[in-house]
Amino acid sequence: MLIDTHCHLYYEDLKNDIGGVLSRANELGVTQFICVGTNIVDSKECISIAEKNDKIFASAGVHPHDAKDAPEDYLDQILDLMPFDKVVACGEMGLDFFRNHSEPEDQERIFIEQIELAKTLKKPIIFHNRDADEATIRVLKKYGDGNGVAHCFSSDMETADAFLEMGYYISFSGNLTFKNSQLPKVAKEIPLNRVMVETDSPYLSPVPFRGKPNEPARSRFVAEKLAEIHDVSFEEIANRTTENAVKLFQLP
Ligand SMILES: [Zn+2]
Ligand SMILES: [Zn+2]
Repeated sequence: MLIDTHCHLYYEDLKNDIGGVLSRANELGVTQFICVGTNIVDSKECISIAEKNDKIFASAGVHPHDAKDAPEDYLDQILDLMPFDKVVACGEMGLDFFRNHSEPEDQERIFIEQIELAKTLKKPIIFHNRDADEATIRVLKKYGDGNGVAHCFSSDMETADAFLEMGYYISFSGNLTFKNSQLPKVAKEIPLNRVMVETDSPYLSPVPFRGKPNEPARSRFVAEKLAEIHDVSFEEIANRTTENAVKLFQLP
């Protein structure tokens, strides 16, 4: 069994075919899902999707891209969503200096505020980091409590080490399978009790589906790649990544 620890099931193509999406996932052994919100509206949508299916869980948070549009009372609004049964994490949150859809200062402010909120609630954070290694490490060192996961990890070993040292898990997505990727070298060094898999669907389809819309079933290919990298069986990776996700998100 595998858990897709990061998917955005509220995108039309996924949401409108949720039955098909889940059955194709089940066929490949992917049986639980964390639907991750990127703003208040999407987070609510995640919760309503999760409430209709006992294998789907939700997170609530504001993505760095959405920082500029976060309503003034966004923290209160997240706080209102967190007590829902199916909400297992705060996020996604973080820093994205690659696209810079929002000003870096805004991104950093709402990242810090959400970390503080998650700490008070004792919930894990799901954080996004693109071209922002240094700032992410600095913020987490100062404000984080080591409870959470670096989603769609795409950085170097030094950054992975910093996250691991603070206590965070590392989650890999389809870009682990891309040709010429440096990520397998990093992935090989991540202890198996600290690693998870995800799709980040509808983005980042793994090889052999690169460039096509992604869906949770394909976390299978990420797990298979991870097995190949660590030279262990697929079952071993499935068991370990599932254990890790169950523990971090306190899944039933
Ligand atoms: Zn992300
Ligand atoms: Zn995402």
